[in-house]
Amino acid sequence: MKALTAKAFVFVIVLVCICGWGQIGQSQAKRFLVVIDPGHGGWDPGAIGYYGTQEKDINLDIARFIRLLGLYDDEISIVLTRSEDVYVPHRERTGLANRLRADLFVSIHANAHPRHAAANGIEVLVHDDTNLPTYPQSRTLALLLQKRLTRALGVTDRGIKHQTLFIRWAEMPAVLIETGFLTNPAEEMSLRSFTYQWTVAQVIFNTIKEYLRSAKTR
Ligand SMILES: [Zn+2]
Repeated sequence: MKALTAKAFVFVIVLVCICGWGQIGQSQAKRFLVVIDPGHGGWDPGAIGYYGTQEKDINLDIARFIRLLGLYDDEISIVLTRSEDVYVPHRERTGLANRLRADLFVSIHANAHPRHAAANGIEVLVHDDTNLPTYPQSRTLALLLQKRLTRALGVTDRGIKHQTLFIRWAEMPAVLIETGFLTNPAEEMSLRSFTYQWTVAQVIFNTIKEYLRSAKTR
C-alpha cells in the first residue's frame, strides 16, 4: 500500500511537471508577440567564417536562446521563423509575422567583410525607405538595440545602417541585427561561444521588452 501511495505521488508530481511545462509553452495570453527570424538556413549558409563557421548556425543558436527566454517571461511570447536548419523564403518569414499580427519582427544575422578580416563590431539595420509607416519605430528600436548590445558586449559600435531589405514587407516595426563579423577570427570565436550567444540573446530580449513597454505606454 505504501509503495502504491509513493507511486501515486510520483505520478502526480510528473503530471504537474508536464502540465506546468505545457502551460509555459502556451503563449496566447501574453501581452506581446515577437517574431524572431534566424537568417539563412538549409542550402543557404549565409556568411562563412574565417575558420569555416556557417552563419546560419550562429543565427539559429541565438534565436533559440531568445525563444528560451520567452518561455519563462510573463509578457512576451517568441515565435521563430525557423527552428531548425531549413531554408525559409523571405516572403514567408515576414508573412508569418504579418499573419500573427506580431508586435515586432527581428531578424538575426552575423556579418562578413569580403576583404578585411579586421572589420568588427555590431550594427543594427533598418529598411532605407523612410516613408514606411513603421520607419520611426523601427529606427527607435534599432538605436536602442545598437546601444544596449555594444555596451553589454564591449564591441565596436558601427552605428545603425539603412539598406533595402526584405524586412520592409513586415507590417510592424522591423530590424535586422548583425551580431558580429564571422570573417574576423576573434569575433568568429566569440560568436561560436555560449557566453557571447547567451549575452546577445539576453540583451536583445531585454531591449525588446524595454522598447515594447515604453511604446505601449506612449
Ligand atoms: Zn546574414
